[in-house]
Amino acid sequence: MINCPKCNSEKLVETPALGNIPLDVCPGCSGIWFDKGELEALLAKSQGSPAGSLDFLNPKESSMNCPRCGKSMSRGGLVNPLLLVDKCEVCGGVWLDPNELGLVKKLLGLSGGPSDVKVERAAAAPEAPAASGPGSLVKAFAAVAALAGLAGLSFELYLYFSPTEAVTYTPSAGLTALSVLFFAGGAFGLGRK
Ligand SMILES: [Zn+2]
Ligand SMILES: [Zn+2]
Repeated sequence: MINCPKCNSEKLVETPALGNIPLDVCPGCSGIWFDKGELEALLAKSQGSPAGSLDFLNPKESSMNCPRCGKSMSRGGLVNPLLLVDKCEVCGGVWLDPNELGLVKKLLGLSGGPSDVKVERAAAAPEAPAASGPGSLVKAFAAVAALAGLAGLSFELYLYFSPTEAVTYTPSAGLTALSVLFFAGGAFGLGRK
């Protein structure tokens, strides 16, 4: 597994292209990494005869690091000085952005074969069961209801046992009934499996 030199968080996915050449393709930006010789092999397959040499013109230092060796790559013209690609001059690998394979082929006068490589993200590891399912939501509601009921009951008891001149509210049967209902309902909900 090698990282995409463009999207640091993406890992390249080995994707067999034409003739089962195992290309490394980025599921994020669809860029393609060709190890030394793979681009030539792909082009040779797509036209049925060996491709001409892929000259690398006017190389300058690139801002990208080689995904294989980690060394700074070179940016230069591939076949044509205007088609700027990144190449590692240490290992000979070439990075092509998604549209560049088509451009290389156009420049070489090739028409057959794919101009891009389809890639699918590697299947993610199965997710761990969610901690908060609907069951725990019900439990949370029950807990809130029970607490509200308890608070209501405490308030009523406080009113009931306080000297009348100390409080401005009078105990209400309605609120008491509601609190009991909330507390009982909440406790019942919490107790359920
Ligand atoms: Zn990428
Ligand atoms: Zn390299």
